[in-house]
Amino acid sequence: MSDASILRTVFGFDRLRAAQQPVIDAVRAGRDVLAIMPTGGGKSLCYQLPALEREGLTVVISPLIALMRDQVRALRELGVAAGALTSGNTEEETEAVFSQLESGTLRLLYMAPERLGSGGAIHLLRKTGVASLAIDEAHCVSQWGHDFRPDYLRIGELIKALPDVQVTAFTATADAQTRDDIIRRLFDAPPEIFIQGFDRPNLRLAFAVKKEPRKQLLDFVTVRRGQSGIVYCGTRNKTEVLAKALNEAGLKALHYHAGMEAEARREAEIRFQQEDGLVVCATVAFGMGIDKPDIRFVVHADLPKSVEAYYQEIGRAGRDGDPAETLVLYGPDDIRLRRSQIDDGLAENDRKGADHGRLNALLGLAEAQGCRRQLLLRYFGEDSAPCGNCDLCSSPPETFDATEAVRMALSAVLRTEQMFGTGHLIDVLLGNETEKTRRWKHGALPTFGVGKNWDRGQWGSIFRQILGLDLVRPDPSRKGALQMTELARPILRGEKEVMLRVDTIEARAARRRSEPLALVAEEDEALLSALKSKRRALAEAARVPAYVIFADKTLNEMATRKPASLDDMMGITGVGAKKLDKYGATFLAVINEDVDIPHPARNRLSGRSEGAVFDQLQEAQNRLARGENGLDIYMSCSSSTLAKIARYRPASMEDLASIGGVGASKAERFGDAFMDVLHGADGAIVDEAH
Ligand code: ADP
Ligand code: ZN
Repeated sequence: MSDASILRTVFGFDRLRAAQQPVIDAVRAGRDVLAIMPTGGGKSLCYQLPALEREGLTVVISPLIALMRDQVRALRELGVAAGALTSGNTEEETEAVFSQLESGTLRLLYMAPERLGSGGAIHLLRKTGVASLAIDEAHCVSQWGHDFRPDYLRIGELIKALPDVQVTAFTATADAQTRDDIIRRLFDAPPEIFIQGFDRPNLRLAFAVKKEPRKQLLDFVTVRRGQSGIVYCGTRNKTEVLAKALNEAGLKALHYHAGMEAEARREAEIRFQQEDGLVVCATVAFGMGIDKPDIRFVVHADLPKSVEAYYQEIGRAGRDGDPAETLVLYGPDDIRLRRSQIDDGLAENDRKGADHGRLNALLGLAEAQGCRRQLLLRYFGEDSAPCGNCDLCSSPPETFDATEAVRMALSAVLRTEQMFGTGHLIDVLLGNETEKTRRWKHGALPTFGVGKNWDRGQWGSIFRQILGLDLVRPDPSRKGALQMTELARPILRGEKEVMLRVDTIEARAARRRSEPLALVAEEDEALLSALKSKRRALAEAARVPAYVIFADKTLNEMATRKPASLDDMMGITGVGAKKLDKYGATFLAVINEDVDIPHPARNRLSGRSEGAVFDQLQEAQNRLARGENGLDIYMSCSSSTLAKIARYRPASMEDLASIGGVGASKAERFGDAFMDVLHGADGAIVDEAH
């Protein structure tokens, strides 16, 4: 059969794509090949077509069992003798593959890399004779890559066992380090390398800072009603929450994550493939096996983990070449979460450095000041002109010389000895007296109060942008305290200027005007809600409306200014002598409960056995703040709640849940671990106090 007829009769395609032609020519000629093609570029055809044209067996190594099984099923439907050896096989399936191998009728054999561990497979392949070895997702062999799989290193053994075999490797990851790694590990002599254009001009690129993330998402999806789309979420829980919200807004949505039963996952995949206008809210587990050409949008409800991951994920949209849209929503919490995932991971330190680099590149893209596509393609080694199809081309962001503000921020970081997070640094810049500034004598710093030209929200944006520029980085061993990087030194020395975007800074100010409800900065929202619940309790006890105790405005001001003494409290609007007398101390306690270790609640326990319990509770809580898997929604109890737990030693889960500040969901998250601490299996901590 000529190749044109195989292409048409077997695959049903009229012609090869321009990017496929040269790669397939080289594979046909028997040369070793490394092809780097973007997701959706049509890599599989580059080894499948030559495999059917030549005599003998082509072995395909691929990392994803589900994807392999899909491909095998699809090929069989096309009438191709294909089989798979994976850990998911039934015995009969494996038997069938072996007998086809022996009779020499098998054309394509898909293998999971872990199968290479059993010497049997290698022996069998050597006996059978293999014409060509194709390695899909070849970046998995690279420790520098974003998706390293140790089993991929075994491919080297297979290649050694098959001395004359042709090796072809395919990936969508283009960075030079990964490429060098692939070449070093998979090829004896340099292969022929094809780097295909990475541009997907039909994808519109956009990023937006999270303001009201739920609403931003609903607005985006609502105007695209009837279109198929994916909403990628950072946690499993969020996939369910957002799908529900979309459904409630009258949009058709499903959730999908790896924690679901295989059957339910399969069903979601099938519905997505078949139904029109369905939106899937999913973790990144969704998509690898999805071959739907008309996905019209991909939204990231949370920041992806790297540029590579971002590009792979948005690449699932618009494979048919028609216009498709993408949007990433991100905020400071996303950046912190991604950083801590890297730092808490098991990888080696230099690998972690590389991962931080990849994340930085993505943040650079998020906070870009010029065409996003240009920056993105440059990252993949391609030069291009501004694209006209990204949010920044449509409305270029206004920037301003922020050197002075950035130097203030950096100086606050340095002068507080790089020991604090954004919230406290902003207090220092604004000159807010708090429990913490007093304890650490930060009121005496020359930086104290120099930043009054900006408000709290604006400083938040400045810190986020300098995080994005990698001028500062959170130190995980110090609960995210900001550390300055080398990049910041020339700025601090006055040798370099920094431009920052105006819009994200102004967005906050605009929101303040239009939405009187959101009057405190993000960092203070938890405190504000603690103040409100105290007010509610007092109001209920006195049988008066809440505003009689204190007005909203007063609580907002307390949350922002955090008075540290009754004197400070007097300065808050709406706190007169009478109210100060009546409620001052109560609210002061709420405000000052919320500071970091060493915490007064902890101090009050000092020297008693509860002190040790407190520390262990806190350790357990830090460990589980994002759940067992590190991906769940962030939760924590305040120090005073932990102190209460240490003191009361609840005997059951219900007792625990009923302690103020705990509640059902925190009891569920931390309960087992707390119970271990309180009534440890080893009985280390006995109840001495009672
Ligand atoms: P990749 O592995 O590079 O992400 P795939 O091999 O899954 O991409 O191909 C992406 C899509 O393009 C698939 O739907 C595939 O059927 C289709 N495709 C591949 N080559 C051609 C071609 N020559 N003509 C038409 N469609 C093609
Ligand atoms: Zn552009």
